[in-house]
Amino acid sequence: MSRAKTNNRQNAELLAIEGGKPVRKQPLPWELPGAHWMGEEEARLTDRVLQAGSPFRFYGLKPQHMTDKLEELFRKRINRRYALGVNSGTAALSISLGALGIGPGDEVLLPGYFWVSCVSAIVRLGAIPKLVDIDDTFCMSPEDLRQKITPHSRAVLFVHMSGCTGHIDQVTAICREKGLKLVEDVAQANGATFKGKPLGSFGDLAIFSFQLNKNMSSGEGGLIVCDDEHLYKRCFAIHDLGYARNAAGRLDPTDERYQLWGMGCRMSEVTAAVALAQARKLDRIVRAMRTSKWAIRRELKKIPGLQFRRILDPAGDSGPFLITIYPSADIARRFTDALRAEGIRGVPGSTACLYMEEWGLHWHFNVPSLTHRRSLSSDGWPWTHPANAFAAEYRYDRGTLPMCDDMARRGALLTIASCLTAKDRQEIVQAFRKVAAKML
Ligand SMILES: *Cc1c(COP(=O)(O)O)cnc(C)c1O
Repeated sequence: MSRAKTNNRQNAELLAIEGGKPVRKQPLPWELPGAHWMGEEEARLTDRVLQAGSPFRFYGLKPQHMTDKLEELFRKRINRRYALGVNSGTAALSISLGALGIGPGDEVLLPGYFWVSCVSAIVRLGAIPKLVDIDDTFCMSPEDLRQKITPHSRAVLFVHMSGCTGHIDQVTAICREKGLKLVEDVAQANGATFKGKPLGSFGDLAIFSFQLNKNMSSGEGGLIVCDDEHLYKRCFAIHDLGYARNAAGRLDPTDERYQLWGMGCRMSEVTAAVALAQARKLDRIVRAMRTSKWAIRRELKKIPGLQFRRILDPAGDSGPFLITIYPSADIARRFTDALRAEGIRGVPGSTACLYMEEWGLHWHFNVPSLTHRRSLSSDGWPWTHPANAFAAEYRYDRGTLPMCDDMARRGALLTIASCLTAKDRQEIVQAFRKVAAKML
């Protein structure tokens, strides 16, 4: 072999982080699943609302009933009696827990891998968040849930994290057995199923988000589903101005059961128009991500030493995230840095390839308002409320949940855009192989 050829071979194997040639130069497409699919349909429905001069859902010049149609679509999709459009997933969580009457003296169990909105909804109602560890599904561990239930436990918030669910069937059974209310947070897994059953059809209530990072998006927006009429009517009053509305869309403060305090979180018809067009594409968006993700995962499975998040039902995965697990925290970081150098990274400002600890307010120990028990009011409420004295010793910092600590340190996350090409997929696999050959 000539000297030039030998040098070439050595160069080809040199990692980009060591000065070698990167696998790709172009950044990966920004994850934002629904955004890549926005177009004519969204424009047409939005235009109808605006041409009719009717952006408010309850009355107006010529209402187009976009929010009604979106709710109907979700009732059918999730197989629920009621659906309510709201203005965000964060609001949907607060409204749902409020509808259940959660407050001081109550604790709500939630996993330590979540989104900050999950915990703010609990604290803002005056209740206590009780952290439950995750398992290898990256969702709430049913075993740890059993350990953490106390006489103060009122409800469980199960968060279907990073595109799919974990042991939702077992958690549902535990909630029934123990008489706990169950709220599902489907914000990160809209369009996902478990053994053929749509996520959002297990709990007493379930919430969705249509924020820009979610599987379908109207920029902002959210939705609540449930089967119980009274719960729905409480949600309705809370999401609006505290009261029911009559057939003409006017407030009706006469019904004593629904004289509450509203949050002003109604869905605009413009939002609903975009969300409706996106909801009609949701299955296609999800199929694109799932197909890409599992094509990549099947190849990566062949790499010795690389582990993955456990996914109980791959057919029900909505696909926006691929989570890998490494032998040590050091390898997870170095591996991720090396992948980025190979061009497995997003455009500036996006999150495409991260080690898990970088995943911000998704981890309980990264939420300063929680670890420092912050309050909106000067008296420290709700942490100082006498009915919450039982929680004085509860912990929220690192070291509280062993599996969360471990997975944050040894895990890494790759976002799977809804518009990946075969070339993108192939280069992702090539970069993993190249880095693994040196590091695993
Ligand atoms: C995004 C998200 C929310 C909040 O949704 P917004 O519409 O941004 O308020 C709630 N829970 C989870 C798990 C999320 O990922």
